[in-house]
Amino acid sequence: MTRTDAEARALFARLTGQEPTGLWSAPGRVNLIGEHTDYNDGFVFPFAIDFRTVVAVGARDDVRIRVVSTFDEVPVEVALADLDALFPARRDDIVEWARYPLGVAWALRAAARDAGVDASASLTGIDLAFSSDVPVGAGLSSSAAIEGATAAALNDIWGLGLDRVTLAQAGRRAENEAVGAPTGIMDQMASMLGESDAGIFLDCRSLEADVVELGFAAAGLELLVMDTRVTHAHSTGGYRERREACERGAAIVDVPALRDLSVDDLPRAQELMDDVTFRRVRHVVTEDQRVLDAVRTLRADGPRAIGPLLDASHASMRDDFEISVPELDLAVDTARSAGAVGARMTGGGFGGAAIALVDRDLVPDVTAAVEAAFAEAGFAKPHVFTVHPSAGARRDA
Ligand code: ADP
Ligand code: MG
Repeated sequence: MTRTDAEARALFARLTGQEPTGLWSAPGRVNLIGEHTDYNDGFVFPFAIDFRTVVAVGARDDVRIRVVSTFDEVPVEVALADLDALFPARRDDIVEWARYPLGVAWALRAAARDAGVDASASLTGIDLAFSSDVPVGAGLSSSAAIEGATAAALNDIWGLGLDRVTLAQAGRRAENEAVGAPTGIMDQMASMLGESDAGIFLDCRSLEADVVELGFAAAGLELLVMDTRVTHAHSTGGYRERREACERGAAIVDVPALRDLSVDDLPRAQELMDDVTFRRVRHVVTEDQRVLDAVRTLRADGPRAIGPLLDASHASMRDDFEISVPELDLAVDTARSAGAVGARMTGGGFGGAAIALVDRDLVPDVTAAVEAAFAEAGFAKPHVFTVHPSAGARRDA
C-alpha cells in the first residue's frame, strides 16, 4: 500500500468512522509532444505518470454524495437528485475543488442516461475521500487525476458499465461545464488509457487512441520534469488569444480546423494571412506533423531518435506560438547542453514545466546543471524529478 493509499483510507475513516469498500486511483500525465493541437482537432502523444490520485469509497444508505480531500478536509455533501440543478447553472455554490468530483458524478449520470443505462434506481449514495501525490498546477494534470479516479470509482460502484472513452468524456465535461475550465480531452484520455511503458497516441478529432510502447527503460533513458514553478498572470488570456488565432487561421483558409492543413499547405496559407496569425498556424500544423513523426520514429528507431523532434517542438512554441518564458527556455537549453537527448516545454505555456529525455547516468548532472543555471539567472529553484509511463485509472483494492 502506498502512502497516498493509506492517507485516503485514513481520511475516509475519519469522515465515516468506517473502512472503505474499495480504493480506486488515476494518474496525472505529461505530454511528450503535441502542444496546442488538441483544440485544433489534431494529434497529441501524452503518457500517464507514476503520480496518482487515490479515492477511498463507500456506499451510503441514502442518496447523497459526499466528498472530502486531504487538500480540504471540510466535506462537501449534496443530494444526487440536486446535481442536475447545480451544474452548470449554480456551480458557484460549490467550493471549486469539489466541483471536479461532483461534476464527474453529474456528467456520469447524464452519460449513463444517454447510453440508455437505466441507473436511476440503482444509484446509491456514496462517500469519496481523496488523497494525491500529483503536484497541483505543475502541468501534470492533477485535475484529470481526480476526475479519472472519481469516474472509475462511480462507474464500478454504480454498475454503469461505461467504456473508458466515455469516462474520459465525462471528466472533460465536468472540467468544462462544472468547473468552468475550457480544456481539451487529452488529459482525461491519457489518465484513463495509460499503460506502463507506453504513450497514448490520440487523434483528438476521432478520439481514436493507439497505445504505443515507449521503451525508455530498455534504452536506458529517463524522462525528467523540470517544474519552473512559474505561473504567469496572463496564461488564461494568452491561451484564449492563441485559440482565437487558430480559429481565425482556419477560417481564412476555409478549413473546419487546422488539423485539415498539412505542411505543404503552409506557403499558400502564408499569402492569405498576417504574420502573427500565420506563425500561430505554422506551429499547429508542424506540431501535428511532429507528433506523427515522433510515433513513426519511435516505432522504427526507438526513443532516442525522437530527441530532435522534441527540440523542434520547443523552438516552434518559443518562436512561432510564443508561449515560452525565459525560465522554460533556460531549462530546455541547459538540459540539452548537459547532454539531454531532447527537451521541450510541455503544457499550455507561460510557465509550468519543461521535459527532457535524458540518459539514466546523466540525470544527476542534468539536474545539477539546471539548478545551477537557475541560481545563476536569479530564478527561483526549479523542482526537477523523473516520471515513468504508468497504468491508467484502475481499482486498487
Ligand atoms: P493541473 O495542471 O494540476 O491539472 P488544474 O488547475 O487544472 O491544474 O487543476 C488543479 C485543481 O484541481 C486544484 O486547484 C483543485 O481544485 C483540483 N484538485 C486536483 N487534485 C485534487 C485533490 N487531490 N483534492 C482536491 N482537489 C484537487
Ligand atoms: Mg488541469
